[in-house]
Amino acid sequence: MPRLSRRSFLTASVALASGPAFAAGTAATPPVDVVIVGAGAAGVAAARRIAAAGRKFVMIEAADHVGGRCLTDTRIFGVAYDRGAHWIHTPDFNPLTKLTPRRGLQVYPAPASQKVRIGRRYAREGELEDFLALQVRANRGIMDAARKGDVACAQALPNDLGDWRPAIDFVLGPFSCGKDLTQVSTVDFAKSIERNTDAFCRQGLGTLLASLAEGIPVKLSTPATAVDMRRGGVLVETPSGTISAHTAIITVSTNVLASGAIKFTPDLPKRQTEAFGKLSLGSYDHIALELAGNPLGFDSDELVFEKPSNSRTAAILANVSGTQLCLVEVAGSFGRELSSNGEAAMVNFAADWLAELYGNEVKKAVKRSHATRWNHEPRMLGAFSAAAPGGQGARRIMMEPVQNALWFAGEAAHETLWGTVGGAWESGERAADTVLRRLGGGKEPTTAETTGSPARGPQRARAAPRYQQ
Ligand SMILES: Cc1cc2nc3c(=O)[nH]c(=O)nc-3n(C[C@H](O)[C@H](O)[C@H](O)COP(=O)(O)OP(=O)(O)OC[C@H]3O[C@@H](n4cnc5c(N)ncnc54)[C@H](O)[C@@H]3O)c2cc1C
Repeated sequence: MPRLSRRSFLTASVALASGPAFAAGTAATPPVDVVIVGAGAAGVAAARRIAAAGRKFVMIEAADHVGGRCLTDTRIFGVAYDRGAHWIHTPDFNPLTKLTPRRGLQVYPAPASQKVRIGRRYAREGELEDFLALQVRANRGIMDAARKGDVACAQALPNDLGDWRPAIDFVLGPFSCGKDLTQVSTVDFAKSIERNTDAFCRQGLGTLLASLAEGIPVKLSTPATAVDMRRGGVLVETPSGTISAHTAIITVSTNVLASGAIKFTPDLPKRQTEAFGKLSLGSYDHIALELAGNPLGFDSDELVFEKPSNSRTAAILANVSGTQLCLVEVAGSFGRELSSNGEAAMVNFAADWLAELYGNEVKKAVKRSHATRWNHEPRMLGAFSAAAPGGQGARRIMMEPVQNALWFAGEAAHETLWGTVGGAWESGERAADTVLRRLGGGKEPTTAETTGSPARGPQRARAAPRYQQ
């Protein structure tokens, strides 16, 4: 039974590696090999790699649960509700899907097509073809501009997108990158891998990630407050004591790093702190509505955009995994402004917006509701990174070792899968491999691990540019 044997192996090796680690990792006792800060996708991936190599490690997490920005809630709606990541991009290559079949979770393909709402009706075939053709041209404009230099994506768009411009701005900017296209680097956009096939996990992507963390010991509710590298090795301060390690992998978000929540001594190199700023997190939130009785006749996992006249728009992911849960997705500058007004304002926006598109009756169908506010989560301070114009090079700078003892990992430290769980996972594995080589032993990284996954094709969209009426 592959599932049992693999899992037992992992659990055994983790237990072996970490059994003495907590005791041995305090400052008064011999250092452990690695301290991992943060138990999101990158931290979990790094821990599994280090455990499999039989090294001693301690993983600490500020929250009282693992998962970070990839977290499934089942209490609010009684069904799986991914509060963060939900789409499994490029499932054929995604490191998480490769591990899924062994864990009894159900991963299934996302529908390949989407709809577009124009006022109170759906777009007709010819209109969808126009939208698709313009999206392809917009993508091509960004790719061409990226070959000449690193400017804002907005500058690279064709100037004849007409009244589809706000829709294209939303799909390529806030919806795909969490930022308006004025704030996204053409080179970062061009390097990101094509994401036009997706899958979902019926039990939630956060559940999938949590299952991959099973058996890995994590010190929960233990934030790192300071990291000291002055005596060779690393001392990590937490409210419950100091952990001593030969090396550290830090996986907290770039916004948390930039906030100064963790004090580094000596100061981190300026080029690295500048890199965190260039890779700041965009804004992306789910406004989750339970729509009783499927009043809008949505299919399971149906994705609907609007043809808006301005940036106050959203997308709907309806009937998530066949449930009554509908996610209204808000992002970019508008999403940031909305989230700063609080959860009630977000839910009101979603209900009003749906009513504009489908009629007032929909409001009566709204039962339970919830809105995420990732910009206001102190352990993340945003959704996911997108490089500022001119800032794509910051991703490689972020991956540089500090004092040959400390490495950063996480979604921002990936050149082609930034902003994704898969990218965070690969980044964690890559940092672990580097640390293992530094400690002696460990495998050489493959080309894909050093540069990221294969380069993207000519089109990019979190939303596949295929539509149906
Ligand atoms: C709303 C939303 C939707 C998204 N949609 C998708 C999607 O559909 N598909 C996709 O692939 N990706 C998506 N993403 C992005 C994806 O969630 C992230 O790229 C990924 O989860 C990041 O993982 P990470 O390990 O790099 O960071 P994190 O998940 O942020 O992990 C870092 C961990 O560090 C912890 N931490 C913070 N400070 C400290 C401290 N001082 N000490 C100890 N621990 C600390 C945090 O609590 C956290 O658990 C989405 C994100 C959001 C917010």
